[in-house]
This record gives sequence, C-alpha cells and structure tokens, in this order.
Amino acid sequence: EAKHSGRNGLQVYQDSMEHQSKERLIFEMNLMQGLHEGQFQLYYQPQIDLHTKKVVGMEALIRWHHHEHGLISPADFIPLAEITGHIVPLGEWVIQEAAHQLKEWNAMGFRGLTVSVNISPRQFQQGNLPEVIQEAITQTDIEPSSLIIEITESLAMENQERIMKQMDAIRNLGCCIAIDDFGSGYSSLRYLQHFPIQSLKIDRRFVENIHSNQKDAAIASTMINLGKSLELTVVAEGIEEMEQLKTLRKMNCHQVQGYFISRPLPVQDITTWMEQYSL
Ligand code: C2E
Ligand code: MG
Ligand code: MG
Ligand code: MG
Repeated sequence: EAKHSGRNGLQVYQDSMEHQSKERLIFEMNLMQGLHEGQFQLYYQPQIDLHTKKVVGMEALIRWHHHEHGLISPADFIPLAEITGHIVPLGEWVIQEAAHQLKEWNAMGFRGLTVSVNISPRQFQQGNLPEVIQEAITQTDIEPSSLIIEITESLAMENQERIMKQMDAIRNLGCCIAIDDFGSGYSSLRYLQHFPIQSLKIDRRFVENIHSNQKDAAIASTMINLGKSLELTVVAEGIEEMEQLKTLRKMNCHQVQGYFISRPLPVQDITTWMEQYSL
C-alpha cells in the first residue's frame, strides 16, 4: 500500500499501476483534477552560449504541486502519465504555457531567446502534436524556430513511421528538434542518422568527470565533435562546477546548462535571475 512507500505514495502507484486499476483510477483523477485546478507549474532552467556568454534559451521543466504529496518532480509522475495516456493533455498544457511565457519574455525585451519543452515518445504516438504546436505558435505569434522540442532517446522511437512523420511535420512548422540525454539511450547514432534534428544535448553522466578523468574527457570531446560535424548545436547538460564549464569551453561545446549556471526556477525567479545575470 501507498503508506509504506519511501518518498511519496506515487512511487507505489507506479509499481502497481498496471495491475491495480483502483490505484490507477485515483492517479488519473488526481492528475485531471490537478490540471483543472492549476496544480502544475513550469520551472525554467537557462542555457548559456559558451562563446558569447549570453542566455540563449530556457528549458521548461514541469512540477506538480500535489494537494497531499507536496511538490512532485516529473520523474515521479511523467512515467505514470505516459501509461495512462494523460501525458497528452498534460503535454498540450506544457506547450501552450511555454509558448505564452516566451511571448511574455519577448514583450519584456528578452529577444533571441528559445524555449525548450520535453516531449515523451508517447506524445508522438498519440495525439496530434504538430497541430498542438501550430496552435500555440499561432496564438502567441512567437518565432517558430524559437520553440525547441526535446525528445529523449528510447526504444519506443525506433523506426516508427508515425513518429517520423510527426517530426517532419514539426520541422515544417519551423520548430527545432533536440535529442535529449544523448548517449544515455538505446540507439544514439541511429537517431542522428534518421531524425530531422538541430541539436544534441549531451547527458550529464558524460559531463560529470570531464575535468578529472581523461577517458571521460575523450568521450565528451568526441561527442561534441560528432555533433558539430553534423552541424548540430551541442548543449552539455548538468554543469555543476566551474572546471566542467572551462573544459567544455576548451572543447568548443556551444552551450551549457546546469546547477552551476542556475537551478530550474519558477518564472518570477528566473526572470529576476535573467535581469541580473552575468558570467
Ligand atoms: P531532462 O529533460 O533531461 O531535464 C534535465 C533534468 O536534470 C531536470 O530534472 C533538471 O532539473 C536536472 N538538472 C539540471 N541541471 C542539473 C545539474 O547540474 N545537476 C543535476 N544533478 N541535475 C540537473 P527534472 O526537472 O527533475 O526533470 C527530469 C526529467 O523529466 C527531464 O529530464 C525530462 O525528461 C522529464 N520532464 C520534465 N518536464 C517534462 C515535461 O513537461 N514533459 C515531459 N514529457 N517530460 C518532462
Ligand atoms: Mg530535457
Ligand atoms: Mg536531459
Ligand atoms: Mg531526461
């Protein structure tokens, strides 16, 4: 039962999800209720260009203010939302919200900024992702290329005609596509070969020890060069220390993102941060 779980009851929902329809029903009700009641919030984490040192983008990262469980991180509910299919309405909300936020930042004078949203494989398979994105762009009148769709490598993405078509449609809207957690997943190189992508986000596991471990540095450097030779924008994730940033700059990595720059923060806080930022 949920009472015996560690961090919060949702962990148990997840384990039993496919077997116990009661738990699943409660989760689904909670999630839909949460969506209607505005319990979801986007946090934003900045991305910095290593050459110009400017803030070039913000990644939107969802949080759930649950009435019982408090602040829940996406790792604890996105997988569940994928199983139940609720990721589709949730994902629509994320896209709408992020597009509106970018419009607001543009109006405040933050120009040339991109906003990245994370999209699960399931959202490509179900629903009408290109139409949802199109509508958000039309409503907000943002530059399509300033909206970046991040997709995580996964087995579910392999060779699926529908997913490829959706990606092409998204590209045709003028939006950009990034491969998230690059290197950590199932079939990285095939993705580079087949997907219409513009950027690569190197998983933080490959960045962690680049300043202290030669082997790790060699791998990271090779990944960066691979991305660059394919004319992709290369972003390193999970920068926590100055030394990592310095090493990545030497390796000519384009952009960095991580706690060293800023943790993901709510709109108000990240806007203040942006106004005061200098590297
Ligand atoms: P991600 O897209 O790879 O996002 C990066 C994660 O690493 C975020 O965790 C972020 O807070 C964390 N992070 C950033 N910098 C650092 C650092 O320097 N050190 C460490 N240790 N961690 C860092 P978060 O926000 O908990 O999100 C986890 C994952 O949940 C995301 O990984 C993404 O795959 C998924 N996710 C988040 N928001 C959404 C969403 O709106 N829709 C979907 N489908 N998935 C989402
Ligand atoms: Mg991401
Ligand atoms: Mg990532
Ligand atoms: Mg991830």
